[in-house]
Amino acid sequence: MSYWTDRQEQLKKTAEKDETKLKRRLSDFYDKEFKRLEKEIAAYYQQYGEDNVISYRNLLQSLSDEDRRLLMERMDEFVAKYPQYSNLMPVRESIYKLDRLQGLQYSVYMTEAEIAGFTNEQMTEYLTKLSQKGINYGMETLGFGKNFYSINSDVVKQFVDVHWLNEENFSTRIWNDTKKLAQYLNQDLAQGFARGDSYDKLVRNLRQRFGRVNRKDAYRLIYTEGTFVMAESTMQPFKEDFTKYRTSPVLDGKTCSICRNMRHEVFEISERQPGVNFPPFHPWCRDSWEIVVDDWDAWIDEYVRKHGGNPNAASDVQKPSEVRWNKIQPKNRLPSAVGAVGTVLTVLGAAELIKYLLGGDEE
Ligand SMILES: [Zn+2]
Repeated sequence: MSYWTDRQEQLKKTAEKDETKLKRRLSDFYDKEFKRLEKEIAAYYQQYGEDNVISYRNLLQSLSDEDRRLLMERMDEFVAKYPQYSNLMPVRESIYKLDRLQGLQYSVYMTEAEIAGFTNEQMTEYLTKLSQKGINYGMETLGFGKNFYSINSDVVKQFVDVHWLNEENFSTRIWNDTKKLAQYLNQDLAQGFARGDSYDKLVRNLRQRFGRVNRKDAYRLIYTEGTFVMAESTMQPFKEDFTKYRTSPVLDGKTCSICRNMRHEVFEISERQPGVNFPPFHPWCRDSWEIVVDDWDAWIDEYVRKHGGNPNAASDVQKPSEVRWNKIQPKNRLPSAVGAVGTVLTVLGAAELIKYLLGGDEE
């Protein structure tokens, strides 16, 4: 296993740790939101019910002024919190025509909107951190020190919430998922009332779908977007000095046939396309990649020429004294050509070290 493969494995482990924490935060939030909905439904049963059943006809009466006011208040609060989602709110005029059932269904819609807003916010934060880590792991392997880019760097943000398949970014996907779920829940609600379900039965049914689908949608998105961000951000620093890669799945019993078969092909970095020839290939994919160099001797010559073969040539090429290796600690013994780690290397030494770290000596 090369240093680079090892580094990617570390990145995945960090991602999974943060992912667990994120999932817990989301899960708690979803529970809290359902409790609120549950209370509203309980109030309906109290107000409009008789013997723990609400007659369907009763629900077709106009929404009370008080409930209408509360609903509008809630929409205003939501827009204040998530102005970017203001276009997703129902038009005001429609609120005046709602009956009691529709009023409750709008509450379900608002609950799912809150979930979309919160999930989106939390995921952005998680993926930005992951992107920073990924790009810095790449930078470090190429000799730029451990924390080259800050979390606020535009380079770091460029991979977060961009669309890479089907013209959809994750904000849109979260919104589409939650909206779809709201529709299902509202159908459950209407059918439950029509059947004359008791409060307990109605809430139990809703809770089941609510808990399962919200989590399933969010967790899948977190995992798959995480793979996208890791693959793209780690590749970023390599684009300058390399041209080819192959995918590099962990090969165990769980590796799927898509990832297993893709790894035999070599692709141009400039032609990589997530979902097609670059990870992620499918939902729940955690594939990664490795650099391919056909002729390392030629690569080293080119690197030296580009980064300091002639220090007087151009002002923007790196001079030998600027190639630094900070705290790189490959697991194994370094090739003798490289010299001491943590010191300033010659450009040739740097090239040899990069080759070594990328597994160029293994072939
Ligand atoms: Zn796979």
